[in-house]
Amino acid sequence: MKYHIKTFGCQMNVCDSDWLAQALYIRGWEPAAEEEADAILVNTCSVREKPEQKVYSQLGRLKRSNPGAVVGVGGCVAQQVGERFWERFPHVRLVFGPDAVPSVPESLERLAADPGLRISLLDFCGSYPERERVWSLTQQPAQRFVTIMQGCDNFCAYCIVPFTRGRQRSRDSSEVLRECQELVGSGVREITLLGQNVNSYGRDRGEEEIGFADLLERVCSIPGLMRVRFTTSHPKDLDGEVIDAFARLEALCPALHLPLQAGSDRILQRMGRKYTRQGYFRLVEELRAARPDIVLSTDLMVGFPSETEEDFQQTLDAMQRSGFDSSFSFKYSDRPGTRAANMPDKVGEAVKADRLERLQALQEELTARSLGSLQGETVTVLVEGADSRNNGSPASWRGREPGGRVVNFSGTDNRDLTGSLVPVRVREVKKHSVYGEVVNEPW
Ligand code: SF4
Repeated sequence: MKYHIKTFGCQMNVCDSDWLAQALYIRGWEPAAEEEADAILVNTCSVREKPEQKVYSQLGRLKRSNPGAVVGVGGCVAQQVGERFWERFPHVRLVFGPDAVPSVPESLERLAADPGLRISLLDFCGSYPERERVWSLTQQPAQRFVTIMQGCDNFCAYCIVPFTRGRQRSRDSSEVLRECQELVGSGVREITLLGQNVNSYGRDRGEEEIGFADLLERVCSIPGLMRVRFTTSHPKDLDGEVIDAFARLEALCPALHLPLQAGSDRILQRMGRKYTRQGYFRLVEELRAARPDIVLSTDLMVGFPSETEEDFQQTLDAMQRSGFDSSFSFKYSDRPGTRAANMPDKVGEAVKADRLERLQALQEELTARSLGSLQGETVTVLVEGADSRNNGSPASWRGREPGGRVVNFSGTDNRDLTGSLVPVRVREVKKHSVYGEVVNEPW
């Protein structure tokens, strides 16, 4: 049997799709192009209006490109829309929420055996939905994501995640460590720990589970694991122990994604973010004191209901003061069931587009400054793969330096450098990456 997986949205969805691909592969399924697959899974994102609309156009197109395939819809739009998918898309025969990922391989086999069957898996689990162990059976790439929790309890006013991924459930730390060790044993050199709000890891389990700083310490001490990253953090839960970990733990990369969302206290309060701009600046100061080379990225939203030009100016000011190396920025859009969807004083599309443009222009300046600081420096790159092969001459390679910034460089011979740590002197700064050359061997 052949499968094809389409993934939209966040790294949690990527991690779910990676597991599904591996679980199907070890059951004898083969990866295939969309047109040739017996089963197609669409792993969806509902964080904004646009990604949700994308799902519907995809499903319409799949009906034409491969009418015979078993089509399954997973992820946040599946949880949000549920069995209503069947009314609009009768060719969809499987609807599964994020908690049901472990049951998908077996469900696909049942659907393949019984053409009349339709399955919906939309219940939330009371605890973290653990999955079959699948990684040690094949060689793994240099980087992998490891989920440490599911769901979120924060209910930020604009966010649909607590409704589509459920309440926070932390995974057993013993399971997290076992999966990390298994991945390192299968060739992984860098692990990114994933959760909606990793800093509150374990808090839903009281005394029976360790906290995030302890988990980080244990993961970073796994022999053979060269680099550890984590995302996503919440400023209200980022504590001194985790900040201190950046100064102490060698394997912990100097990179942190810390969503600010907005720079105005009035808007932060309406969003229900539970921190202030001054509180956020203090965290940035403490992080830079603990790890001066730390690379900071963030999420920023424009056009939250009632946002004024003055509020927006405070977002631009906060970006300058925090010196973000990069950011993901979005226009606010109503999400079903959220508090903000019912708030008055919605900001017009044209104003949102103008503010997003100005914000992204400022971010380009900040990113150029961040990448420019690497000019002439020698950085250690964990090679993710070949950028392009030049017909027998040494390939050019792509990877990331410890801060997470993308580095491209030319190899000196035809060795496969994937998964290696290579010292590269930066020669050229580009818009979103830098280019360099390998520093003389041995390394
Ligand atoms: S912390 Fe807020 S924005 Fe992030 S997933 Fe939870 S509710 Fe959504």
